[in-house]
Amino acid sequence: MTQYVVPAPVVTTVPVEGTDAVFPVRRVLCVGRNYAAHRAEMGGDDREPPFFFSKPADAIVAPPHHAVPYPTVTQNLHHEIELVVAIGAPGSDVPVAEAHELIWGYAVGVDLTRRDLQNAAKDKGQPWDSGKGFDASAPISAIRPVALSGHPQGRIQISVNGLTKQDGKLSDMIWNVAEVIAQASKLWRLEAGDLIYTGTPEGVGPLVRGDEVKGSIEDVGEVEFKVI
Ligand code: MN
Repeated sequence: MTQYVVPAPVVTTVPVEGTDAVFPVRRVLCVGRNYAAHRAEMGGDDREPPFFFSKPADAIVAPPHHAVPYPTVTQNLHHEIELVVAIGAPGSDVPVAEAHELIWGYAVGVDLTRRDLQNAAKDKGQPWDSGKGFDASAPISAIRPVALSGHPQGRIQISVNGLTKQDGKLSDMIWNVAEVIAQASKLWRLEAGDLIYTGTPEGVGPLVRGDEVKGSIEDVGEVEFKVI
């Protein structure tokens, strides 16, 4: 048996809807500016294609945990509601037409963002890790297997304290799910356990301590948490 010199990292897991089984998380990729209206609200250029960044696996906050601590350093924490793809099979340089074969399931995620740190990084041409990849920055719902309700195409919404803040359609994505997987697989070999946050529609905005956040995607589920 391997003797670790420090405690080995714990495998992050996400519950699977309707079972006691869990999905083990290998890594978390995220797509930036994948909805035109959000790209515009972020000051993006309409010729600029979407792109990827990542969060550490242990940034995931999965059920039954419903508390997200307000992160350190920031004065401007933002919500971004996103469809999450759970990858169940390996693939590299996957054609768009075959990309759906890699999908194990879907979840509802929130890409929490320290917007002030992200904007400062953008201004200086620095990486986004401190703005995007912080502790507890990736709340997520249980994963719904694709075998259960197929590939979602409907509405994506988030409310804060009962008020709707983002209300979009998955069909408004610039890169659809198959294209996201195909693109990602050109850059990295995808493996079972990878999660991909596929970008957010317009209407991102601030969260403060005490906020009750509820996100939903038609035919996928609901994510719910409180900022503490
Ligand atoms: Mn995002």
